[in-house]
Amino acid sequence: MAKEQPAQAEVNIGMVGHVDHGKTTVVAALTGKRTDTHSEEMKKGISIRLGYANAVFYKCGKCGKYSPVPKCSECGTAGKVSRKVSFVDAPGHETLMATMLSGATLMNGAVLVIAANEPCPQPRTEEHLMALKMSGIKEVVVVQNKVDLVDKQKALENHKQIKNLLKEYGYDNPPIIPTAANFGINIDALVEAIEGTIRSPKFDSAKKPKMFVARSFDINRPGIKPRELRGSVLGGSLIQGELKKGDEIVITPGLNGKKLLTKIIGLRVEEGSLEKARPGGLISIETDLDPSLGKSDEMKGQMVSFAGVLPEPVTTIKLSVEQIKRLITRTVPEIKVNDFVVLTVGTMTVIGTVVKQSKKNEYEFALREPVVIEKNQRVAISKRDGNSWRLAAYGTFN
Ligand code: GDP
Ligand code: ZN
Repeated sequence: MAKEQPAQAEVNIGMVGHVDHGKTTVVAALTGKRTDTHSEEMKKGISIRLGYANAVFYKCGKCGKYSPVPKCSECGTAGKVSRKVSFVDAPGHETLMATMLSGATLMNGAVLVIAANEPCPQPRTEEHLMALKMSGIKEVVVVQNKVDLVDKQKALENHKQIKNLLKEYGYDNPPIIPTAANFGINIDALVEAIEGTIRSPKFDSAKKPKMFVARSFDINRPGIKPRELRGSVLGGSLIQGELKKGDEIVITPGLNGKKLLTKIIGLRVEEGSLEKARPGGLISIETDLDPSLGKSDEMKGQMVSFAGVLPEPVTTIKLSVEQIKRLITRTVPEIKVNDFVVLTVGTMTVIGTVVKQSKKNEYEFALREPVVIEKNQRVAISKRDGNSWRLAAYGTFN
């Protein structure tokens, strides 16, 4: 009999917020482990990428309490599994806004972590909230973290600032959960808020698969025998449909102007291999492509599907553009004709130029590399401002 395959997470939850406010600590408290060691990657100077961490939440059958561990903290009963979720952790460092924006493509909902001991909003707090709004992510839970560092008066003031910020961005009632994450305080309440707020997307196996690639690897050790060589591995999230071992897939836009056709040799999640993958969490696909094609995240930004499902790649796109104009924490550069911009299309980031304005809010962009884009897809537009790329506008492809 076939071995039962490990259960996949059923929802991707973004973990966003200003640097040092406690995202990694909150994820650790919710999962019992850390997401990708971003600081390690930073030290080694390798590319910073999205980290995923799976967590299982439990609900006590006796007193109804939620918990990140099976044993109920109230009555000691072993709880039932409520849901398996995957946290997508986007590093909050200044230059990595593009990573966060790529991540937003994969998020079904988000947890926004805000430290109680600093005035709110801090720049990344606001920018991330703006990105959530622009990406159409409506189901948000706010963590007011580090409450151990402030007195009651300060905590209330900070709570009021958070409420005002949320309202400013059209988020009327997200739950705001006070925590001291590094002491594990109030994490049960956070689990309850997540379970009550962020829904799992509905899965439809009849839909054609679409996957966004967030990373890629060459998994072979140096000196391996040629016949043991394994193909490029792609990691990312399926956003609809299903993929199976043996499926013929198309990777698009591909490399050097050519789509890549390949076969699924193996499918994995963190907990083991799968026969079939569906949306939720990070999946990886072993392909039969030359392993060198996938090394060092070379395939980040690609999309995976079946032949004929996705539109042809393009190097010029027309977008209806909404300029952000104003943020509380900084000025926002305006997008104008002849500007250099960085567009985030799905998990792909490409450099481009604004070639012309065709209508009041409609601009044409020439891109340095091809992208795959579908009708109504949102695109984040960043522009250089001093030393950094700033989120400046959003576009919709139509
Ligand atoms: P990130 O940059 O948002 O991922 O933040 P980290 O999770 O790395 O946390 C930044 C620092 O704040 C670390 O030194 C944590 O130990 C500390 N920290 C996180 N949560 C709390 C908390 O609730 N209370 C206190 N006092 N420190 C915290
Ligand atoms: Zn209980």
